[in-house]
Amino acid sequence: MKTFTSVLALAAVAASLASVPAFAQEKGTIGIAMPTKSSARWISDGNSMVEQFKAAGYGTDLQYAENDIPNQLAQIENMITKGDKVLVVAAIDGTTLSNALENAKAAGITVIAYDRLIRDTEAVDYYATFDNFKVGVQQASSLVQCLKDRFPDTKPWNVELFGGSPDDNNAFFFYDGAMSVLQPMIDSGEIAIPSGQMGMDKVGTLRWDGAVAQSRMDNLLSANYGDKTLNGALSPYDGLSIGILSSVKGVGYGSGDLKMPCVTGQDAEVPSVKSILADEQYSTIFKDTRNLAGVTVKMVDAILSGGQPEINDTTTYNNGVKVVPSFLLESQPVDKSNWEEVLIGSGYYTKDQIQ
Ligand code: BGC
Repeated sequence: MKTFTSVLALAAVAASLASVPAFAQEKGTIGIAMPTKSSARWISDGNSMVEQFKAAGYGTDLQYAENDIPNQLAQIENMITKGDKVLVVAAIDGTTLSNALENAKAAGITVIAYDRLIRDTEAVDYYATFDNFKVGVQQASSLVQCLKDRFPDTKPWNVELFGGSPDDNNAFFFYDGAMSVLQPMIDSGEIAIPSGQMGMDKVGTLRWDGAVAQSRMDNLLSANYGDKTLNGALSPYDGLSIGILSSVKGVGYGSGDLKMPCVTGQDAEVPSVKSILADEQYSTIFKDTRNLAGVTVKMVDAILSGGQPEINDTTTYNNGVKVVPSFLLESQPVDKSNWEEVLIGSGYYTKDQIQ
């Protein structure tokens, strides 16, 4: 009798489970290929997507490739073989994925370029990102603001330029956006570039590597600043900014009468926010990765439900083969005057993560 009752009880449980809607994965698995865990923003992008896809009823297959291109290719091929429904890819090198993605297309898998455009292939369907040109404008505007505040009596301001990784399409948008502000000031003589190094072919930083930026800054200082003082450095990413700051501090900037040069950044990473509070890095650009994840999840859900994803730009992002329909989010400059309102107020960080 006892056994019979438990069998009945089990059957009841099984029946009720069958009627409960399935959890995540009911709608299929989404492959998410992220470039590296060495920068906190990509960890946050990955975590936000997993959380939001799960809430929308999808399973996720999240992979990080530690900035190794063959590794990312293998991860993507594996996602295709496993039958992931959609691929969301933040490429390490935006030009090396065409073959793998042709296979995705042949298998009927939709591909979304995440934050970084995938170049030279038809096989990319949508692009979710920020207004990358505007990020560059914001970086340069903040650099100029700092130069005015910190060096009101200096003319010209001596500035050095740093670019992002030349295999990342974004790096050119950041640089071009920044130069739309700086070039007229260079032409009018308000800003000087003592090294003469300009253009992405000269100022790019492969794989966004902070150590590379640090040693380039060391070289720039020893070759060009014997009798000059550096007033600013355009940096497109917090990891580079920290390297640049180590270099300038190493030769005495920020102590005695050598003021800290104005150094910009991007991503509002914790070490940089702390550096801003310590009056070292001047600013960063906050890109809310929760919102980028949200836009991407909505895109995927629309596509898999047979609808059209929302896009707000159909002209800017030509990948060399076609213009990829995009959704661009807004970024926000952050410095010592607004970090708390923007970063803590939005719940992106808690105060004790920073102070
Ligand atoms: C992203 C930036 C990031 C950089 C380095 C770019 O593609 O848009 O937010 O700072 O990569 O990871």
